[in-house]
Amino acid sequence: MAPLISMTRNAQTYEVKCRTCRTPFKVALFESHEQNLFVADKKDWYCDACKKAYFSRQTAERAGRQQDSGFPDLNGTEKMISWAVKIREEMMQKVDYLQKSLKFTSDAEKEISAKAFEMFIDEWRRFTDAKWWIDHRTMNVRDISQRIKELSADMKEAPSPQKGAPGQPD
Ligand SMILES: [Zn+2]
Repeated sequence: MAPLISMTRNAQTYEVKCRTCRTPFKVALFESHEQNLFVADKKDWYCDACKKAYFSRQTAERAGRQQDSGFPDLNGTEKMISWAVKIREEMMQKVDYLQKSLKFTSDAEKEISAKAFEMFIDEWRRFTDAKWWIDHRTMNVRDISQRIKELSADMKEAPSPQKGAPGQPD
């Protein structure tokens, strides 16, 4: 009967070795022969322990680089922090891209923009919850550009903004 077949199908596994620690472990096989050929050919398998170690090393490296640019450690579960640190890196790349793509007609304009970027990054430095970064992961260059424009406009209106009270409504 049909149910028995699906049960045996799921039990199909293939033994591979972790490329890092050489520990053998089993991976599930697919139903299609084509996909299983790919499984048999694949050389770079990593066991769960090595995968976990790799990701925590990667997170630590990312967090270290971010700390060098003045970003604090994040709060949250290990999994959330690891994701948030990756998002923060990608978001900083967007900021960098935007900053490099801007053209200015005057030095005054250039200076205002540079200050707006500083203020913007300062805002981001205050978000220490991993959740905030995860919630804002879809923020794109256009969103960032919009905020930079707002900050620049505020500065043009009030040349010496009150420090310590950003984000307050007028
Ligand atoms: Zn391993």
